[in-house]
Amino acid sequence: MAYSQKDGAMIIFVRADLKEIFDQERKYAWPRPERCPACGMCRVWGHGFVLAYFDAIAGGVYLRRYRCPECRCVLRLRPIGFFARIQASIETIRESLWHRLGKGRWPSGSCGSRQRHWLKALIRNAAAFLGNAWRNALMEAFDRLICLGVIPVSRAIKGATGIVFEPPYRGVR
Ligand SMILES: [Zn+2]
Repeated sequence: MAYSQKDGAMIIFVRADLKEIFDQERKYAWPRPERCPACGMCRVWGHGFVLAYFDAIAGGVYLRRYRCPECRCVLRLRPIGFFARIQASIETIRESLWHRLGKGRWPSGSCGSRQRHWLKALIRNAAAFLGNAWRNALMEAFDRLICLGVIPVSRAIKGATGIVFEPPYRGVR
């Protein structure tokens, strides 16, 4: 499980199947953190759902939210494999960039403008966080940035907000 901040809410990435979440809607058995990851004080309470959109699914997907009654932190759960705010999967993005950097062109049948934007952002983020030497090793930079908790294709240059950790949590089924 990993998390990052978004608009005051903390995003928690969990191993979850997007299709199952879509099919089961609000009945999907999301895991619940044992304790609040922000203050560590107590158990978090259910705090409704937010509708999110992903490339792979035609329609909105309900993502679980929790709230800590102690520090009032809001937690938003999100399936692993997707960056916050970005609808394409990490795998799709990585695949496209790898194709473009390796073969000099984008994979056929893909949307060019969005991908050019990913590449531009990657070059900028690599330079900002890793230095200019990484310009010639952009795929390595992509993976390195993820390790640092930075979204490699994010438009906004932001400091590392993600902290990777594996707290104990159990599924509520
Ligand atoms: Zn808390």
